[in-house]
Amino acid sequence: MDPWIAKAVVAAASVALVAIRAPHGQRSRKVAVARSCRGGRETALLTLAWAGFFVPLVWVASPWLPFADYPLRGGPLVAGVACYASGLWLFFRSHADLGTSWSITLEIREQHRLVTDGVYRRIRHPMYSALLLYSVGQALALPNWVAGPSYLVAFGLLLASRLAAEERMMLERFGDDYASYMARTKRLVPGVW
Ligand code: SAH
Repeated sequence: MDPWIAKAVVAAASVALVAIRAPHGQRSRKVAVARSCRGGRETALLTLAWAGFFVPLVWVASPWLPFADYPLRGGPLVAGVACYASGLWLFFRSHADLGTSWSITLEIREQHRLVTDGVYRRIRHPMYSALLLYSVGQALALPNWVAGPSYLVAFGLLLASRLAAEERMMLERFGDDYASYMARTKRLVPGVW
């Protein structure tokens, strides 16, 4: 298959991700931060995640990394589009449900509201599940061994460092309310983990 199909799919998914986040980012910036738990490791991994997000865009826009290209096949492309689409849907829903409680990093905002409904009803980190689905979709749809999995690897590292720290921060802020929320939900996959 023509790699231009993959380039079009990757470009469209990236634009959709940025378009979903942009209004929420703008709105959240207007709400003051009451407490930040962002340390040096979080900043380094967040920067790496941004780099992992941009590598596929450079691959789309240029003949970069030709040594790592491999032929595009229909099966992985279709599976990738399915993961991209479900990830983008969940990303949209989780942003809508989280509202101004969203932050790009470990922060508690003024008048922070604990969200436990909508897509937060059964899992505590639907936005991270969404980004994992998105990055798996990218690894499947983008036929290059470096650019394909770059966001999956970078975001996976950020997530591995962040999950427990975020839950500690939420427990400190919301106490028993978050503890009972933790007791009735899973982290990333409903009913599994
Ligand atoms: N981990 C969540 C949220 C990601 S955004 C998810 O994957 O859907 C990260 C910020 O969201 C954190 O800094 C924290 O301030 C906030 N947050 C996380 N879980 C929350 C919840 N259940 N209710 C309100 N805010 C939450």
